[in-house]
Amino acid sequence: MQAISCRRRPPRLTLVGVNDPVEILGSTSEELAGCARELLDRGAGCAARIYRCAHREGRFDPDGLGLGTAASAGWRDSFRFRLPTVSRVIEEPTERGALVRKAILVTHDGLEFETVDVPIGTRRSSLCVSTQVGCRMACRFCETGRMGLLRNLTAAEIVGQVVAVRALGWKPRSIVFMGMGEALDNADELLRALRILTDRNGLAFAHDRLTVCTVGHVAGIQRLAELGWKRLNLSISLNAADEETRRAIMPVAGRTTLGELQAALVTYRQRDNFQLGVHYCLMPGINATERDARAVAAFCRPLGRVLVQVIPYNPGSNPIARPPTDHKVAEFVDWLRDAGLRVRRRITKGRGVMAACGQLGDPALRARVRERRTQAEPGELSNSATE
Ligand code: SF4
Repeated sequence: MQAISCRRRPPRLTLVGVNDPVEILGSTSEELAGCARELLDRGAGCAARIYRCAHREGRFDPDGLGLGTAASAGWRDSFRFRLPTVSRVIEEPTERGALVRKAILVTHDGLEFETVDVPIGTRRSSLCVSTQVGCRMACRFCETGRMGLLRNLTAAEIVGQVVAVRALGWKPRSIVFMGMGEALDNADELLRALRILTDRNGLAFAHDRLTVCTVGHVAGIQRLAELGWKRLNLSISLNAADEETRRAIMPVAGRTTLGELQAALVTYRQRDNFQLGVHYCLMPGINATERDARAVAAFCRPLGRVLVQVIPYNPGSNPIARPPTDHKVAEFVDWLRDAGLRVRRRITKGRGVMAACGQLGDPALRARVRERRTQAEPGELSNSATE
């Protein structure tokens, strides 16, 4: 992981970037302590308390720690605590009475993105976190894919989502990097965020409470493997196991073949009982025949232990298929099981508030994105693969 830069700056040096404060939410506790020692004349000994308070309670209050005026000012000058602003929260009850909650967050530069708290049973939940504002992968079944990529989120903004929703009283037990964006298309910031989220002095998530989901970013899978975290979960969004269908619904398949993806996944396996998640968005008329199920089984066979999650298609603003009936989903699940796969049928949650899989980045949000693009100087926003 690239180290953050916090060398003591020469007095009155004001070049852009050189004097940027250190992001507390974008640092590990060790980095923060090191920067505090480097940058502060006094008050550096409070680094661990400041870190805990910022990451666990969502507060940065050096004065409240009993530091003197000069030490507090030093912390405020050299360090920055910046949470994404919660613009709105939209909720939808599940059949069991728990709530799917979608928070619409705003970055410091005015971009909106979304985070969804998905209940698991009635007591626990998993937070579906975004890694980009928009996405350039352009999967045809996904609302976010229609936005294009505006920009990557920084590690501080990825971590900030978790801190911000905890400040709302949400207490997710696990995190899936499956919100807006392809997580491994922003691998540098994702890897940094993973280290920060698992920092024992901060949020201290165990490795097996984190799941990275990818459409098949082979170079990113290799970088994740280099981390050497044997208990980190990985899921792929497969959605078709023949090249032609996959290319038709996922442009990434034009750059990475199923064979290359399969090889990367075989290499990724770092422990015997590792279970790869394989997500399959079921779309009648596109990928829902018995032949499709047999192709999925053939793709998964060399991958060891696999759990296929069948996700009924959630139509967005411009549907490419109808949602599958319960009978269709059950039939497809049976075909997969008959082929020897372990399968879970995903219950649709949050469809009514555009918080279900493939629905993040609703039309109103996209309209604001278009407006912003029109206002932006050429080159100011990232280019999109969908444009
Ligand atoms: S499914 Fe994921 S990778 Fe594909 S466009 Fe949507 S956010 Fe991007």
